[in-house]
Amino acid sequence: MNKMNLEEYKGVFVYAQQVDGELSGIALELLGKARDLAKDLDTNVTAVLVGADVKGLCDKLAEYGADRVIVVEDPELKEYRTEPYTHALASVINEYKPEIMLVGATAIGRDLGPRVSARVATGLTADCTMLEIGDFPLNPLPNQEQKHNQLLMTRPAFGGNTIATIACPDNRPQMATVRPGVMQKIAPITDAKAEIIEYNPGFTPNDNYVEILDIVKSVSETVDIMDAKILVSGGRGVGSPENFKILEDLAEALGGEVSCSRAVVDNGWKPKDLQVGQTGKTVRPQIYFAIGISGAIQHVAGMEESDVIVAINKDESAPIFDVADYGLVGDLNKIVPKLTEAVKAYKASKK
Ligand code: FAD
Repeated sequence: MNKMNLEEYKGVFVYAQQVDGELSGIALELLGKARDLAKDLDTNVTAVLVGADVKGLCDKLAEYGADRVIVVEDPELKEYRTEPYTHALASVINEYKPEIMLVGATAIGRDLGPRVSARVATGLTADCTMLEIGDFPLNPLPNQEQKHNQLLMTRPAFGGNTIATIACPDNRPQMATVRPGVMQKIAPITDAKAEIIEYNPGFTPNDNYVEILDIVKSVSETVDIMDAKILVSGGRGVGSPENFKILEDLAEALGGEVSCSRAVVDNGWKPKDLQVGQTGKTVRPQIYFAIGISGAIQHVAGMEESDVIVAINKDESAPIFDVADYGLVGDLNKIVPKLTEAVKAYKASKK
């Protein structure tokens, strides 16, 4: 393989995922992070928008931090399909040579990102929890050049038992995927405008193009816990699906939602949609109640950014107390109903 001329690669690019002509939240979250990275590198932010009739979304991308939008529009791109979308994004990378390419770790991004990275012959770090610019290796090593201004991609490794920081020093772009909810979008800049570039690499349908016969959308019966301001989360310690009633009562009194640990999902007590953690959702509510949850690293990875964490556990040495702002040691069956009563009484006194 020819050695890449790394100097040619400039700018931070974000894959601006849209579905049915609507931007996904992750696109805006990644733009927020891209701005930080671009500032450190003294460069700008480009959103790559791929679809059939999507130009109307450019202004929103500008409001959330894109300096430039590259739009790839083609009738072949109406619905997401691996082959034409890969061709679109890989062609943009080959033509515009970004230094960094960020993709959401959504169902679409998990399909698209690795394929594109293979096609443009670079690496990809999946499910990053932190992205920053720095030196690699982190500390100078004898007989190894320390490179500056590298994208340092941090993610859990070995089943979440350790945290690894990964770089891609010899290839470009440096590609990372990030799960929804991990990065934060900026407050929109009203009336911001981006430079718009239209680019179409040409699409020639072939045997690799899948024909879509029917699209069946799954209808979720649960609320999105990523949007909740207050989460009352239960673990195996709750004991049974029926006993979640006491958590539901507390959530109702507080105007919050119920979520859970993986043990609860594995037991079939609650649907996977409600799971918080490394293999569930990343949440950052204003208040997170961890009730009967031990605080395994894979759970904590999904909730440690919450503003205030309240833990209720009968085991005073449970690791959840290490991340909690407030801890209550005792039986949740006694504490939770009392808490609910207290909240109700407080609300009644304010009427
Ligand atoms: P337990 O660890 O069994 O803890 C139950 C807690 O309840 C204990 O601390 C106990 O003291 C307390 N308790 C019991 N009875 C009472 C009572 N009456 N009153 C008060 N407290 C009581 N886990 C996740 O949550 N999310 C993930 O996304 C996730 N991803 C994973 C990915 C991988 C690759 C792996 C290997 C694991 C993952 N896990 C995840 C599992 C994780 O390691 C833990 O097994 C899980 O979080 C434990 O759930 P828990 O805290 O509800 O149960």
